[in-house]
Amino acid sequence: MESHRIKLVALDFDLTIYDYADPPAIQILREWFIRLDRAGVACGLCSGRSRKSLRQVLGEVGIEWNAPFPRFVIADEGYLMPTEGEPSVEMEQWNRLRTEAVEQLAQQVQPIFEREVAALADKGLQATAPVSPGPAGLATTYENPPEAWKAFKRIQPIIARYEDAYLSLNHHILMIVPRQFTKGTALAELGRLRSLALPQILAVGDNLNDRTMLCDRLGFTVATVANADPLIRRGVRAAGGFVASKKIAAGVCEIFAHHFPQTPS
Ligand SMILES: [Mg+2]
Repeated sequence: MESHRIKLVALDFDLTIYDYADPPAIQILREWFIRLDRAGVACGLCSGRSRKSLRQVLGEVGIEWNAPFPRFVIADEGYLMPTEGEPSVEMEQWNRLRTEAVEQLAQQVQPIFEREVAALADKGLQATAPVSPGPAGLATTYENPPEAWKAFKRIQPIIARYEDAYLSLNHHILMIVPRQFTKGTALAELGRLRSLALPQILAVGDNLNDRTMLCDRLGFTVATVANADPLIRRGVRAAGGFVASKKIAAGVCEIFAHHFPQTPS
């Protein structure tokens, strides 16, 4: 066990620690957040949501912001943020490049994405929202995860031809993010800014938008929860990572117990 070496934990939010069906269940993690913080492990969020949205939802379930969780935020699939105030100069540099890449994506790939989504609609696979640019990249939504998955599989070979575009999926949301500025590369950049070796970073997520940090073998220590997409569970296992037997927050507790068995309560 090399868990004592982990210095930073990046947690996806939706369906990794937060369950829409049971929001207060997240409180089971509170004790762990305090223990890890005392042990000098920085626990933070890596989500498709904005910092504001994360803060609001955590507030609603009684997790007081930055007290001590989260200690950092990667927002909108790849922007580096402190928990309070403005990003540092180094973070801002990364964020500026990401914004440029997102804008470029909208110019280069949006018409193709729209065309493909429309072609699927003609065949009966109807999106529930138009393709639109947002801070994370380009996105559209489907009625449910299986429909989004079908669209993902059909559109992926076309988008794969564009080297700067990365087709991703989160629950019912189908999105294209800039390939060089994903959750995975953003987390690696955060590690670089903190002078951490990649194995000192534990990445935890559940869905295909976590694939870059969990399955791309960037060098992080990886783990996932029982409810994760089968592709993610396979990828995490293949990378030598831990797959919890429980879902969402209970699964994350299991991951913490596995990686930090010596951490005093
Ligand atoms: Mg998720």
